Amino acid sequence: MSKKPFVTKEQVEEIVKTYPTPFHLYDEKGIRENAKALKEAFAWNPGYKEYFAVKATPNPFLLQILKEYGCGCDCSSYTELLMSDAVGIDGHDIMFSSNDTPEEDFKLADKLGAIINLDDITHIDFLEKTIGHIPETISCRYNPGGIFKISNDIMDNPGDSKYGMTTEQITEAFKTLKAKGAKEFGIHAFLASNTVTNDYYPMLAKVLFEQAVRLQKETGVHIKFINLSGGIGIPYTPDQEPNDIRVIGEGVRKVYEEVLVPAGMGDVAIYTELGRFMMGPYGCLVTKAIHEKNTYKNYIGVDACAVNLMRPAMYGAYHHITVLGKEDAPCDHKYDVTGSLCENNDKFAIDRMLPEVDMGDYLVIHDTGAHGFSMGYNYNGKLKSAELLLKEDGSVQMIRRAETPKDYFATFDCFEVGKKLCK
Ligand SMILES: *Cc1c(COP(=O)(O)O)cnc(C)c1O
Repeated sequence: MSKKPFVTKEQVEEIVKTYPTPFHLYDEKGIRENAKALKEAFAWNPGYKEYFAVKATPNPFLLQILKEYGCGCDCSSYTELLMSDAVGIDGHDIMFSSNDTPEEDFKLADKLGAIINLDDITHIDFLEKTIGHIPETISCRYNPGGIFKISNDIMDNPGDSKYGMTTEQITEAFKTLKAKGAKEFGIHAFLASNTVTNDYYPMLAKVLFEQAVRLQKETGVHIKFINLSGGIGIPYTPDQEPNDIRVIGEGVRKVYEEVLVPAGMGDVAIYTELGRFMMGPYGCLVTKAIHEKNTYKNYIGVDACAVNLMRPAMYGAYHHITVLGKEDAPCDHKYDVTGSLCENNDKFAIDRMLPEVDMGDYLVIHDTGAHGFSMGYNYNGKLKSAELLLKEDGSVQMIRRAETPKDYFATFDCFEVGKKLCK
């Protein structure tokens, strides 16, 4: 089974004349079609809004595209807030879903008028001390504990996760916030990551909607929105069936009508904070085979490394690989595809069946559009790549240049030695 890249060998040969490999390439057409489909899937809910999880793909050009479809930003750090503000997304179009939050971050979120989503009950006092008041609109993050299952499948383990408040805490938090003047309330939970099933959101919605009804009854607050957060996944492996966002939207609508509407809560807005689902499939890492090494195993060395895409090294995550121009060739060679870090887990694939790879071949590493470039780091002094946008008209726009040694040394500007290094 295989996956078809959104870029061809001919296109890549053209692109590399201007932008050398490795680079991350994004598919404007795919991003737009998907954003439109999401919007339509939740159009039944008048208050619906997607807050794109900026950490997945923090690039202002891409945030701008999503903004055209009504998306706001889900931020959890100071610089993510700055980036959101820089593209004109501010006020209640920012959801600030942070945890272990520094004072300065709360201050900036408040200054931008963001909706603040509190991760812990102790953050009520911390926030009030830091910004001098409690915002009128406020959200709390919920963690029901235990294990989150769909039928008999364990999806994730919320009881083990650092996020959110217990049932007792969120009840207490709502009472306290109400007493301190908060008027509009939100509930948020993120219980499972990268779910490739249409059932996750409706199941999560049921948990949250039932909590919302209970909280409204017990605390008398007005619940304005329920934030289903992220977690809708993508098929990284070719055999997985992609989620159908229409089915998911419809599933959430059903639960909404079963639980919220009879409780007189038919005015509640649904929010989402999708990251992976919005961008994952619409980005790829393009890299070139530069070495072949045969020892106890057969290795293909490429010009990208874990610095450009950390997921395989960090989680053992599968990313499909296409050798451009050999899409129809038999996958009859077994390789480890490696980067150049002095770190043995710097492998994009282990024991992967691929067509015979020749030096100079271009490899497309699929599904790097979310949590790809953004997880990058600078180990071994490796530099981060450029990000390019393949536009709908087939042209290519650079939306972030590649790092240079000067960028790498920039933080040594306090030392004399910096002057020589950064020349
Ligand atoms: C990471 C994150 C998201 C996005 O998660 P995806 O798996 O990319 O959909 C949404 N909300 C919060 C609070 C997050 O930390």
